Amino acid sequence: MLVRLLWKPLPESWPQVAPRRPAGLRGLVIRIRGKAAGMSRDDDVERRMRRGAMQAIVRESFQQTVAEQDGEHRGPAVFAEAWKARLSAVLAQESVEVTGWGEIVIAELDTDLGWSLYEAASRARAEAIARAVGTPGRRREADDGPTVSYEFSIAAGEEGSLGRVRYAICEPCGVGLLKKISFSPEWQCCGFGTLALRELETRHPGLTWYTTGQYAHAQGFYQRYRRRSTSPWTADQRACPHFDSLSATASAG
Ligand SMILES: [Zn+2]
Repeated sequence: MLVRLLWKPLPESWPQVAPRRPAGLRGLVIRIRGKAAGMSRDDDVERRMRRGAMQAIVRESFQQTVAEQDGEHRGPAVFAEAWKARLSAVLAQESVEVTGWGEIVIAELDTDLGWSLYEAASRARAEAIARAVGTPGRRREADDGPTVSYEFSIAAGEEGSLGRVRYAICEPCGVGLLKKISFSPEWQCCGFGTLALRELETRHPGLTWYTTGQYAHAQGFYQRYRRRSTSPWTADQRACPHFDSLSATASAG
């Protein structure tokens, strides 16, 4: 939904018709395609351009806010406010340079459309964050020895996969090894790291968990999580002898 609102061509009459209905947009597109009469082609093209330009502004303000996440680490609510402030600042200008569009004169645009778009996309993001769950685990390639490697996604309905978790367990030794958690930039700082770690503990209760290749910025995360978890979540690379070759590979990557 977030992607559809910010990246796909908007249906002509959006958002007048039932923007809250998840399946509403598709029917709308078909109806608009069928409705040819009533306006000249030039008006049609110009209006579409203006709507596209407004969408590009909302999208670019979103992307710029996402780009700040490395330094700002904003949680969902604070992110929404920062995005809103950025959009507000852009729309207060007389004109703005937008990637792929050149200079856009704000007065020629429908700013209400921009704010509707912001509200809907912001809501879609919040809903995806609230709804995100771990998908069923898939076994990865066969391991040597007793270790078993798995992968699952953190996904939210229509948004699809928001990130990926790779790990392995060694039942005989009672240990689990988190190999990688990766989320695309727009889904950073949404609590999915915590969600992923909880999933691991729920799926394989009673294991002691280790991590590999911890990035410097993730150290604090594991330390905070450790306080609420019964598993030590240690960064010790020697989870058990069976992971030796695996740990070396993960650290190198
Ligand atoms: Zn082992």
